[in-house]
Amino acid sequence: MGNIQLKWLKYMKNDFMFGIYCDNTDIQRKSAIKQMHEAGIEWIRTQIPGFPFRKPEKLEFTDSFLAFTKMIKNLRTNGFKILLITFFPSQIPESFGTYGSRKYYQNCENVCRFLAQYFERDVQYWKIANEMNLEMFRKPLTIDEAIRFLKVCGRGIKKGNPSAKVCVNMADFDETALYMYKKVYCGKKVIFDYVGANGYFGSWHPGGPHSWATVLEELYKLTKKPIVIQEWGYSSKGDFTTEEERSTGVYPCKLKKWWYKWKDGHSEKEQAKYIVEAMNVFLSKHYVIGAFYFMWSDRERCWQCGSPDCPVETGWGLVDTKGNPKPSYYAYQNVIQSFEQTSSRRNCFKD
Ligand SMILES: [Zn+2]
Repeated sequence: MGNIQLKWLKYMKNDFMFGIYCDNTDIQRKSAIKQMHEAGIEWIRTQIPGFPFRKPEKLEFTDSFLAFTKMIKNLRTNGFKILLITFFPSQIPESFGTYGSRKYYQNCENVCRFLAQYFERDVQYWKIANEMNLEMFRKPLTIDEAIRFLKVCGRGIKKGNPSAKVCVNMADFDETALYMYKKVYCGKKVIFDYVGANGYFGSWHPGGPHSWATVLEELYKLTKKPIVIQEWGYSSKGDFTTEEERSTGVYPCKLKKWWYKWKDGHSEKEQAKYIVEAMNVFLSKHYVIGAFYFMWSDRERCWQCGSPDCPVETGWGLVDTKGNPKPSYYAYQNVIQSFEQTSSRRNCFKD
């Protein structure tokens, strides 16, 4: 991977968030922090473990929230900058208000205000929940209720920390995603400072790294906000379905195969090539200010179906399940190092 084509060099940037998604499991492995530093990764995108409190009347933290706070402190001590994801709509206990009620939204806003204050010294970049265009993430809210949820949460973050930057992101760019982006980012009183985008072209959706160019242009045209790619990646595992298998619409976890592939399919070699090509697209767009690769490590089991031999959620990593770097790790490292060597970086992002 030594010879990277620096197609983006003519669009010189002052700074870029080179990020990775990881969680507590990844950070607990001692080698991870060192490897991330060696790759040049400066930004971590991670998620609050659900609702922070045990009971509404007694604002006592849950154990997982306390462990999470420790992880954030550890990352900050190690020099990382954080982009933090808030709770999902269903993670607010019903005792905080019936879903969709006035009390519910008020409490969502209050909890976000609390979180922004609580992490004020450590977190400046926020994202409200995740992929609200997908039913599995916005349930039990309807699409329009989820839009209201995003807005009240965004407002809560800004009340808690007025200098915080906040975004929302959708999964891919389907009709619901574009409708929700429009409702949140177009109009008079837009709360959000930047926009998040998620896409898995060649795994979950057809296409490849080049597919990003078109959707990013459209998203920028619609929102007029700087874009941070929240999730992108290419799985290094899994066979490809036949036309016949795909036409049945059976979910990849059941088939244990991908509906889509890029070029020669899902392999470690192709994953590494994919990373270089996608980063070239991101770095060539003046309005794309950062990208978080999904994800740091391969997983022993697929989180969706629980199976160890399912390729769906097991092969996204830059390192394997034992923590050994894959070709994808070196590909990302090379892109970052080329950027460092050729740009006059000015550290534009506050941490
Ligand atoms: Zn699976």
